[in-house]
Amino acid sequence: KIVVAARHVAKTYKEGTLRADVLEDVTFEVRRGETLAIVGASGAGKSTLLHIVGGLDTLTRGEVEIDGHLMSTLSDAQRGHLRNRSLGFIYQFHHLLPEFTALENVCMPLLVRDTPIDEARERASYLLDRVGLAQRMEHKPGELSGGERQRCAVARALVTKPACILGDEPTGNLDEHNAAQVYDLMLELNREIGTSFVLVTHDRRLAARMDRVLELSGGRMHALTNQAA
Ligand code: ADP
Ligand code: ADP
Repeated sequence: KIVVAARHVAKTYKEGTLRADVLEDVTFEVRRGETLAIVGASGAGKSTLLHIVGGLDTLTRGEVEIDGHLMSTLSDAQRGHLRNRSLGFIYQFHHLLPEFTALENVCMPLLVRDTPIDEARERASYLLDRVGLAQRMEHKPGELSGGERQRCAVARALVTKPACILGDEPTGNLDEHNAAQVYDLMLELNREIGTSFVLVTHDRRLAARMDRVLELSGGRMHALTNQAA
């Protein structure tokens, strides 16, 4: 089963007479339960691609399929619904709400989906426990370390049981030790829960931990057969 597919995706930015062909012809698929890393130099178009797959940016050509649905055939409302149901997001900066505790932050995506509060708290507590924050649930983001905040963001992304998590440099602001820890945690949760992960990173060593590594360069996707860092 394919959870995310991009086929012949192209993206051209136009500003006045300036044209930038950022993505020329990008095709890739993510299977259920698979972990995929997309590497590439700064400016290669990794964020642009993730934004397109996540429905945040428009494409110039090609198509994106999420959980068996062709995005181009859906209304805006249906696209939003599909995104909320099937995708989870992790960013370089945690985007946790500073006024709320870790537990409240992780409950939030469920509460906005009208999940009963007891059920939301139970699921959020379970995930916070799984990411090693059982003793930190009542702490606000400002009282957590950088690594703890990112682990909280991982719990928040998983709480709605998405088919696939999209991560844009999810450990980009962590040191090597904490970054590796967060990657290992994501892999552990992937094996346990079966959620697919697509992580964009410039760090090839972290990327090599994933099932598969693709490189974006020259506006195209290339399979990396030699995964040595
Ligand atoms: P990466 O994530 O691999 O560093 P990006 O997707 O952020 O790459 O950017 C790819 C290229 O697209 C860069 O050259 C960037 O300047 C350009 N770009 C990104 N967003 C825009 C935009 N909104 N308008 C014009 N150019 C953009
Ligand atoms: P916020 O203002 O809440 O931090 P953003 O402006 O970063 O949110 O993003 C707005 C919406 O776009 C979010 O609901 C998120 O789901 C989606 N989004 C943000 N970043 C990405 C990304 N890299 N890839 C796909 N979707 C994204």
